[in-house]
Amino acid sequence: MENTENSRRDFIKKTALVTLGTLAVSNIPASVFKMVEPTGDFPPFELPKLGFEYSALEPHIDAQTMTIHYSKHHQAYVDKLNKALAENNVMGIKLVDIVKNISKYPAAVRNNGGGHYNHSLFWTLLTPNTIVPSGTLAEAIKTSFGSLDEFKTKFFDSAKAVFGSGWTWLVVNADKKLEIGNTPNQDNPLMDISTFKGTPVLALDVWEHAYYLKHQNIRADYLADWWKVVNWSKAEELYVSAMK
Ligand code: MN
Repeated sequence: MENTENSRRDFIKKTALVTLGTLAVSNIPASVFKMVEPTGDFPPFELPKLGFEYSALEPHIDAQTMTIHYSKHHQAYVDKLNKALAENNVMGIKLVDIVKNISKYPAAVRNNGGGHYNHSLFWTLLTPNTIVPSGTLAEAIKTSFGSLDEFKTKFFDSAKAVFGSGWTWLVVNADKKLEIGNTPNQDNPLMDISTFKGTPVLALDVWEHAYYLKHQNIRADYLADWWKVVNWSKAEELYVSAMK
């Protein structure tokens, strides 16, 4: 059984490598990849710097997935966003302000602006260091959901229910309460068109590109692994800021 499973995984891995052409990256140390320094908050936008190396989240999130997710998927959102903004003569505006008023922009800005915003946030909410929830956020989770375990179950149930591609969020809503919800595609709870609204505290990418190379179709395994690399310090910081 195990050998069959390993061969299947190898096959999927090799197929993915062939499909991705030059992206045979698994044996190259992450440090050789140049990380783009963060630049301003205005167009043209650039990839934000990752706070860790591609391999740092292993074994929970593998280096190959991180490499492709960050340097290909996220880069593509940035490039397509810049192109769409240039075509529409949009200049001198913060990404968050574009996102909050997304109904005023064409679909390419919604998809790629959301993609850039969501991934920039997603990376900051991951860490190779084991951090447990603490402080006011941990207290609020207990008050709102009963316990951390009950919160985790509800959050995972929400993530499992995402049909197709999307994101699962923990937000502070308009009543200053914690709330769990999903958005489709690259939408997020700050967007004026979103039916689920709030200020993000946790963000979970539930697109298959976030986990398929390692976890294949088993989304629940990805969720369990993601839980082990959540940056609760950053989540606490976002929570405190959202409660002000
Ligand atoms: Mn993604």
